[in-house]
Amino acid sequence: MAPHRGDEPLVVPASWLTTEGHRPRHCARHGAPASSWQDVTLVTRPTTKGTPAQAGAVSIAARVAENAQNQRGVSLAGWPLCQACLAHRSRLRGTARILLFGGLGLAVAAVVTFLVLGEPQPLLGLPIVLGVAAVICSGFVFGSSGWNAVLSAEVTPDGQWVRFAQPHPAFSAELAALGGPR
Ligand SMILES: [Zn+2]
Repeated sequence: MAPHRGDEPLVVPASWLTTEGHRPRHCARHGAPASSWQDVTLVTRPTTKGTPAQAGAVSIAARVAENAQNQRGVSLAGWPLCQACLAHRSRLRGTARILLFGGLGLAVAAVVTFLVLGEPQPLLGLPIVLGVAAVICSGFVFGSSGWNAVLSAEVTPDGQWVRFAQPHPAFSAELAALGGPR
């Protein structure tokens, strides 16, 4: 059988991936030699139902709860990650941290200033809004630093398969050599 081509998604049984010894030496995304082996968890992609008009705080909360209930995870022990994967992830995490603490600091400083001055200050509304916006942004940035995004992979809704959206040919070839999918 012809080896799997790198430009199409690669779907691998979760049970095969969680079996010992089925670990390539190159990362899934870049095909570069692994510089670190970490325990990663992949999950199902959240389903987005409803229209933006319905995206009120309540329906967002309900959707988050529903997704959490339906989410299936696959834990991969000792997964290969290259320098680029690790740098990408730590860069995003650093940015999320700066947004979170910077935003919180800004909002708190504005509130404290208001309390110290003791009277309404119209200009203090702006740093509070910016601070809250930064905190919300940090959540999105943090989400994009998850293993699903870093590996460009997800678990199928039935929890039985792991789908690599953009596998590197070197990675696909190694999986095939290990007896994985072709
Ligand atoms: Zn990589």
